[in-house]
Amino acid sequence: MGHVLSIAGNGASMSGQGSPKIRSYAPATGELIGEAPNTSPDEVKQAVLRAARAQEAWGALPVEERASRLLRYRDAIVERAEEIVDLLVRECGKPRHEALLHEVMVVADLATYYAKAAPKILAPREISVHLMKHRRSFLHYPARGVVGVISPWNYPFQLPLRDVIMALVAGNAAVLKPSEVTPLIAVKAKEIWDAAGLPEDVFQVVTGEGKTGAALIDAGIQFLVFTGGVATGKRVAAACGERLIPCVMELGGKAPLIACSDADLERTARAIVYGGFSNAGQACISVERVYAHRDIHDRLLERVVNLTQQLHQGDPSKDFVDIGAIIFPHQIEVAEKHIADAVAKGAEVRAGGKRVPGAGQFFESTVLAKCDHTMTVMKEEIFGPIVPFMQVTTEEEALRLANESHLGLNAYVFSADREHGRRIAERVQAGGVLVNDVLSNGGTTEAPFGGIKQSGFGRAMGEEALREMCNIKHISVDRVATKNDPLWFPYTEKGYNFFKKGLRVMFGGGGLMKKISEIF
Ligand code: NDP
Repeated sequence: MGHVLSIAGNGASMSGQGSPKIRSYAPATGELIGEAPNTSPDEVKQAVLRAARAQEAWGALPVEERASRLLRYRDAIVERAEEIVDLLVRECGKPRHEALLHEVMVVADLATYYAKAAPKILAPREISVHLMKHRRSFLHYPARGVVGVISPWNYPFQLPLRDVIMALVAGNAAVLKPSEVTPLIAVKAKEIWDAAGLPEDVFQVVTGEGKTGAALIDAGIQFLVFTGGVATGKRVAAACGERLIPCVMELGGKAPLIACSDADLERTARAIVYGGFSNAGQACISVERVYAHRDIHDRLLERVVNLTQQLHQGDPSKDFVDIGAIIFPHQIEVAEKHIADAVAKGAEVRAGGKRVPGAGQFFESTVLAKCDHTMTVMKEEIFGPIVPFMQVTTEEEALRLANESHLGLNAYVFSADREHGRRIAERVQAGGVLVNDVLSNGGTTEAPFGGIKQSGFGRAMGEEALREMCNIKHISVDRVATKNDPLWFPYTEKGYNFFKKGLRVMFGGGGLMKKISEIF
């Protein structure tokens, strides 16, 4: 057994120090790597209370000052990147490349972008009003208060810190409940925050099980960003609804990839392999189903199988591997079930297909051919290293099948004709569609990221998401000082007739308002 981490973090600032513990195991070896508090509902309430108090001073700072402190946090993260990568590799079983590029780098970039962009995005702005011309309207973006962040295990550094950084730059305090499977990386993020001399209570971590997350929703937060599965998301959204807490729901995906007849074969094949097997397929935007035009299908499938067989899989803490481990045994069982169901209904396993024997949780990168929509692998989220192929005769058929899903997070279209690809993209039902690329919008900080249908609502990243971390306050100011206002008391017949005439003049067909609306 390797070295077991003690409860990480600076004892004074972590919640739940006296609580029972949850344990974190390395997926690649099965060894226990550390423990973290299983924070009780009472302790969560105390954490939110401390966050609310700390938010008052933090929220009162100019946004530029908050941004410069967040850059200090970014610098500390960059300084300690190798330490973070080491822990991500151990706790998640993901390759070092992915730990660095998809986790640490994304967070560093995000902090840099918002530090620069937030002052502009959050600056009060005047809007033009067409009727109340005697007044001026301004929109302000005050912080909401305490933002709760509940996050999953698949990107346990990037996803929670994305939301935490955005919440903080907007002037909120943030309380994070990480997945119980990957608590140590969240504790590390908190430890780095504290070590950088940043205000302890403004960013807190409450590790624990699902009930710790439920307690966070009940602890007095003003906004919640939830990232996780659809089933949990429904429970969480209902709990928010009961308390009228506004929330963002970032839920599961079933990303289709449409390979048009003119798609570049090599790029499409490589994109499928990367998009299907990055993070061992445990990504909400993984390529989860391929619809390949019959003109390209056989050659594409063959190349994908060939590239898949070249992937190097193993313990990422020992070697530079392409594919690491599967987070816990249940995810392997899910993959096995999908494959058994598909094969029973006529699919063929063309690569992989089974778990790797020995210590640790590994599953072979799997390519399935001859799939169709009677199979669970084409309908339900896989969240593992399986890429199912289906041949289609037209792009219309591919579009219909791509849209035949209860999920709508990401989608991919491959065509040599970019404009054609874009036109298809417009018709795919998804929150984000990439033409001739995969996964990259997960790190496109300026662009809103999120889903439609049961993939959730609200957006992460981009201007909209930052403003969503705030209340929108409308402040209306008079232009001219008067003693009374024609809209106010007293109500008289003369006044009534004046407005009646005004109604016709302004809104009657071809009236004044039509002219005004033509001008504005
Ligand atoms: P879960 O839905 O199981 O868990 C997500 C988080 O919710 C965890 O921290 C979990 O805690 C917590 N939780 C569980 N029960 C409750 C509750 N009753 N109240 C509040 N919080 C609760 O998801 P996974 O961790 O298994 O993550 C995988 C899922 O996340 C996939 O479906 C994937 O598609 C989705 N996902 C979506 C993304 C997006 O941006 N749309 C990005 C990444 C993943 P605990 O772990 O302790 O149970």
